[in-house]
Amino acid sequence: MAHKTDIEIAREAKKKPIQEIGDGLGIPGEHLLPYGHDKAKVSQDFINSVQDRPDGKLILVTAINPTPAGEGKTTTTVGLGDGLNHIGKKAMICIREASLGPNFGMKGGAAGGGMAQVVPMEEMNLHFTGDFHAITSAHSLLSAMIDNHIYWGNEQEIDLRRVQWRRVVDMNDRSLRQITSSLGGVANGFPREDGFDITVASEVMAILCLAKNLKDLEERLGSMIIAYRRDKSPVYCRDIKAEGAMTVLLKDAMQPNLVQTLENNPAFVHGGPFANIAHGCNSVIATTTALKLADYVVTEAGFGADLGAEKFMNIKCRKAGLAPSAVVCVATVRAMKMNGGVAKADLGAENVDAVKKGCPNLGRHIENLKSFGVPVVVAINHFVTDTDAEVAAIKEYVASHGAEAVLSRHWELGSEGSADLARKVVAVAEGESANFSPIYPDEMPLAEKIQTICKRIYRADEALMDKKIRDQLKLWEEQGYGNLPVCMAKTQYSFSTDPNLRGAPTGHSVPVREVRLSAGAGFIVVVCGEIMTMPGLPRVPASESIRLNDAGQIEGLF
Ligand code: ADP
Ligand code: MG
Repeated sequence: MAHKTDIEIAREAKKKPIQEIGDGLGIPGEHLLPYGHDKAKVSQDFINSVQDRPDGKLILVTAINPTPAGEGKTTTTVGLGDGLNHIGKKAMICIREASLGPNFGMKGGAAGGGMAQVVPMEEMNLHFTGDFHAITSAHSLLSAMIDNHIYWGNEQEIDLRRVQWRRVVDMNDRSLRQITSSLGGVANGFPREDGFDITVASEVMAILCLAKNLKDLEERLGSMIIAYRRDKSPVYCRDIKAEGAMTVLLKDAMQPNLVQTLENNPAFVHGGPFANIAHGCNSVIATTTALKLADYVVTEAGFGADLGAEKFMNIKCRKAGLAPSAVVCVATVRAMKMNGGVAKADLGAENVDAVKKGCPNLGRHIENLKSFGVPVVVAINHFVTDTDAEVAAIKEYVASHGAEAVLSRHWELGSEGSADLARKVVAVAEGESANFSPIYPDEMPLAEKIQTICKRIYRADEALMDKKIRDQLKLWEEQGYGNLPVCMAKTQYSFSTDPNLRGAPTGHSVPVREVRLSAGAGFIVVVCGEIMTMPGLPRVPASESIRLNDAGQIEGLF
């Protein structure tokens, strides 16, 4: 049987009016702010009114190191949410919004796939409720105010060579990575080097996803470092009085977006920080609100567990006071084979030995996740080409590592296919064996935090930091930033910094190239390897085949 594409399935969805989905969560009509018929924002007043309720259980979905074979974290997050509802639990899903830029580059949406999708998927992958446009606007307002401040006399004595705040646009446009601004004479200001990042890489995005409420948002925006003076002292956003107007622009974007799955179960889709320069999970406000409205909240962290889950635990959970009851680690037969050395073109053929050879990557993630004190369930996201022997090999391996792997067929069958996984997750979560704690305390010196992650999670011999970097970390400690968590930026393809080193490498070391302070978001970005803050489009971008057909439907978007 030829499978329908994600967009074809999504188009046939029998959506309910969004108010009905809100009713199911007990959100009164006046507190649900509809954006069309199938999307709505939840009012801040309603969010405030549920704060005294008990919390449901939080389930994190993460994965092995990603391979070009695809693992399906979002698909499994949506599938598990539907599966939990299918077995009679009140469950919600919390995922990130999609960045516009990449959708026109490589194919691959953010709404899940097959029979496990969130709808309306087209809108979710396009303008949605405008949150990212609001973030672009707030970010751009600050950019404009900085150059305006310089133009009118530069009272703050900003060193033009040390402006940290770049510009953003939500598009993959490599030609803007490095630019010269203010050319054209006296009336246009003072020429300086500048550049653009993609919107999801903005610190405003990271702040929106970590802020507890609008007050906290404004406070954090004010704390962002925008430039340095000649004496290298920092100039903050609040020094040029931008945070108030930025908060006004972000007022609506701060409210979570309610949508539904193909099976009409509720999902919050909110926020979308880059998983390398930021922490890569949906907003704290969406997650904490969902925990007040449902008994189970299933959420996803970007990239593999060494990056995404580590940052979810050490940054998001620590900062928001969250504690997951269970972690689901997604693995696929295909990705195990790739970790075992099989080329992408050969994935179709059964190869049990390669599956076994790739399993140590999964084993290490299981061990790592358990070290946060949280029980682990492995979800084998089933592809129709997988053979029984290959699936059995993974199950056997996982059992020998003190966990259980459950085959899940949500992509093909929806919630019926993920009911077993849901039952297993409930059993584990209800077992109350979770005793979450981050793997380093706030008080630990910054350099030691970096060493801890490199040794305990990446299993490296050490992190290599030259004197310049160690001095910089010391200076931040003296300035009162020593209690911040560190936000690792490294390739997602390997435990090491070499993207080609699959499996479970040992004997490597992690060179730290650069450290950056995100004082508003509240973390220190540790750059190990290349960091991309403005992607480019491929030779043949997906946008070449995206169009409206004669019926006015969108074609070519997944
Ligand atoms: P991730 O969140 O890990 O990046 P997604 O869940 O977005 O991955 O899935 C990426 C792509 O893979 C989607 O287009 C989805 O339809 C496809 N996919 C996911 N699971 C399966 C599966 N079991 N069989 C076939 N395709 C799948
Ligand atoms: Mg995803």
